[in-house]
Amino acid sequence: MIKAVRGTRDLLPPDTDLWNRVETICREVFALYNFHEIRTPIFEETQLFARGVGEDTDIVSKEMFTWDDRARAQSEKSQSLSLRPENTAGVVRAYIEHKLGETGKLQKLYYIGPQFRRERPQKGRYRQFYQIGAEVLGPPSAGSESPARDAEILEMLATLLDRAGINGWMLYLNSVGCTNDRPRYLAALRDALADVKDKMCEDCQRRAETNPLRVLDCKKPQDQPIIAKLPRISDYLDEDCRKHFAEVQNILTACGVPFSLNDRLVRGLDYYTRTAFEFTHGNLGAQNAILGGGRYDGLSEALGGPKAPGIGFAIGEDRFIMALAGENAEQYKAKPPQVYIAPMGSGMNAHAARLARELRNAGITVELGDEAFRLKKSFETAEKQGITHVLIVGENEVRTDSFAVKNLQSGEQISVARTDLARRLAA
Ligand code: AMP
Repeated sequence: MIKAVRGTRDLLPPDTDLWNRVETICREVFALYNFHEIRTPIFEETQLFARGVGEDTDIVSKEMFTWDDRARAQSEKSQSLSLRPENTAGVVRAYIEHKLGETGKLQKLYYIGPQFRRERPQKGRYRQFYQIGAEVLGPPSAGSESPARDAEILEMLATLLDRAGINGWMLYLNSVGCTNDRPRYLAALRDALADVKDKMCEDCQRRAETNPLRVLDCKKPQDQPIIAKLPRISDYLDEDCRKHFAEVQNILTACGVPFSLNDRLVRGLDYYTRTAFEFTHGNLGAQNAILGGGRYDGLSEALGGPKAPGIGFAIGEDRFIMALAGENAEQYKAKPPQVYIAPMGSGMNAHAARLARELRNAGITVELGDEAFRLKKSFETAEKQGITHVLIVGENEVRTDSFAVKNLQSGEQISVARTDLARRLAA
């Protein structure tokens, strides 16, 4: 038997009802904040991720699904392509390619879709997973650098999680500085690491050389006491970064959005500047980050585009659903159909189909049976799906144009004229 590949999975009903509900809530909230959807391809040139996400990141160095692609089977020329491991690089590529900066406006874009990383599968971690994300970017003259944008995004996320019914989330905030102050911090970090890295895990020994900021991200318990003693980025922020970060916090406080500072919070991606954040949730176990994001003022230029500071986030939809399933998923289950139509005896399928069509056009959800079923089987089928009313379509009913409607809960059966059916079933 061929099975879904490890780290991938099928999403089946009724779970997909919950997924759709979450996506609908997100779309509704995004609309309230004037965000619009962007859909970028699922694969891109490998270079985009190497430059946009960073060659030294685990995502690019270890986790991408990459292949050499020939435009034509016979062609010698090939191009390295990768499944997207995240969506920000694709959005910024599209921003540059379609010259969205020339509109002079802020671009407020959201996406919903699958991402791919070759990670070791575990609870809450898949090789194909789904992200719901949004980005605000544009020329500085449009206000793209303003701390008001950071705060607005964070406030929107708080609203979104609350609306979805996710209780007890935590927002952790940090500022990772900018190209001006980061080199000084990195130098201090490298210095400090030189003395202690031998005592750290293998990954950290490598990171200490290639991407020292990521050492702070290490989850290994034995490394934590060492990490706790490393220099703090908050002590190295320049005046502008300090002010920017203070204003983000000021606005959040004014809006009543709770947060905690965590100066060990860094994002796995190279292009992040200033505000970095993460929302966590207690239902998720070890992989407790439900979403992460931050500012990426230099990304567009790193990809050969114009100056286009921006900020964005990606919600892990799989984890969002897990967190919700632990809360109150019941309320998001799709309702059963309002009526089961049971054609009785040969020749009745056509009459039943016509009736179903009329009722569905009137907005009634209908499950349609089959004339080959005995009435008892129709009742059982309806009951199994939680449908409370069965509409019987037999020769008598067709002749009188009045149909027997049985309430399976009370056992009561009444005859309803065709013209009255939709109204009665809706009630
Ligand atoms: P990142 O793009 O790494 O900042 O991740 C953003 C969010 O996506 C995380 O907070 C997780 O919720 C989710 N995520 C990242 N990697 C995976 C994965 N392999 N499986 C499921 N969710 C993931």
